[in-house]
Amino acid sequence: MKQREILIFVAVLLASATLAVLATLSLRQWEVSAERRVHEQARDMAAMAAEKIEMAVLKLEEEGLGSLRLATRDPRFTPEMIETWKTHTSFFDRAYLCDRQGKVPYPRRLSSPETAMLTGLRTELSAGFWDRGGRRHIQLGDQVALVAVIHGSSRGPLLAVLRRSEQGLRRDILEKTLAGLEGQSTLAVLDNSGRPVYAARSLDRAEHVLSVDFGEALPAWRLALYEPKGLSPRDAVRRQAMLLMAVFVLLVGVIAVGLGATYRLVRRESEMARLKSDFVANVSHDLKTPLALIRMFAETVEPIVHEVLEAFRYPLAQQGFKVEVYVEPDLPEVRLDPEAIKQALANLVDNAIKYSDERRRLSVTVQRCGDEVCIAVSDEGIGIQPREQERIFEKFYRIGRSETQGRRGSGVGLALVKHIVTAHGGSVTVESRPAEGSMFVLRLPIPEAP
Ligand code: ADP
Repeated sequence: MKQREILIFVAVLLASATLAVLATLSLRQWEVSAERRVHEQARDMAAMAAEKIEMAVLKLEEEGLGSLRLATRDPRFTPEMIETWKTHTSFFDRAYLCDRQGKVPYPRRLSSPETAMLTGLRTELSAGFWDRGGRRHIQLGDQVALVAVIHGSSRGPLLAVLRRSEQGLRRDILEKTLAGLEGQSTLAVLDNSGRPVYAARSLDRAEHVLSVDFGEALPAWRLALYEPKGLSPRDAVRRQAMLLMAVFVLLVGVIAVGLGATYRLVRRESEMARLKSDFVANVSHDLKTPLALIRMFAETVEPIVHEVLEAFRYPLAQQGFKVEVYVEPDLPEVRLDPEAIKQALANLVDNAIKYSDERRRLSVTVQRCGDEVCIAVSDEGIGIQPREQERIFEKFYRIGRSETQGRRGSGVGLALVKHIVTAHGGSVTVESRPAEGSMFVLRLPIPEAP
């Protein structure tokens, strides 16, 4: 292959490879940033829902604590009042009141773990917490309890420990906040072991996307976001990326196949060109030797014609050719190389045989025409289209397959004929009509008398 073609080939190959690498990188980058965006949106949504739940919890606690405060401030305070308070709130399922000295106005009876819990709390809480009416959440068993100091009671500051009811939380808050959520995502509340405590929809065919923490009011629990399996935005991003990748791979494949095909074609073409030029070089070399021997051989034109026809006697007879020969008497002398002219004539006779169909006639005429000697070879064969008549003398030119009907040949015969007569200072012409026949005339100049 020529160096230029190799360069172009390598350039296209490099360009495609660069394109492939760049496209893969940017696709990957797009996928990562799209996934990150989707993830951030999901996290924002979950964080907002968690905050909403937290606010609702704090609001219900505030309300419960408010009504409890009213009861404790009543000068006629009795433990029954707390019982009544409890029946009005479904949000707390246990309540304890205890003063700074450890006296417990409610409930009337305590189990020993409850006593221990209250004693522990009292010692743990700072004086500041009592004085400023502090508030905090603690884990009580597997539930969360609100611990708050109530001022203004006739018994001095009271420590209230209100344990949240799980059903209350579920019914009053989670159902109201989470059930109304639109879209295909599902939000679920997970306990500290990751087990769903509450989910607005079934989580059977859903996959966990992310979880966020609640605030201090719901310690150890988390809010998790689920998406239906295979339908999450992240899956959609991946599917889209895979589709793009597939299209791209196909494209690169097509380019590669195209390159391969072009490479093979160019290689075959250049191989052909090399063979042709080798062949031409050989042919020209062979021609040089006999043409160097051009001499005066006037009297030999008639034996040359007969010798060639003699050489073709067998195929002509076998194929039933009617042969006519006319050589004008007293022809002037011409300069020629007998072997070369024999070769040219043989090519014309060979073609006349090759390109004849039913009408098999061959006529060879040698006569003076002006200041030339003309050797005409005519047949009544398939003939040549006018537009082809110029080109048949070109090297390797052959008329299309259908016209030559698969007859053997290489397209050099007439090129050689032309080469030979031109070397003699002469020319070759053709007259032909398709389906009627052809006449090729070799014209050799008669040298001027000295
Ligand atoms: P080849 O015969 O090997 O194909 P040539 O150079 O001898 O090559 O001829 C070139 C083309 O000219 C041929 O392929 C053929 O189509 C056409 N041709 C040559 N001689 C004749 C003829 N006598 N009759 C019809 N067609 C011819």
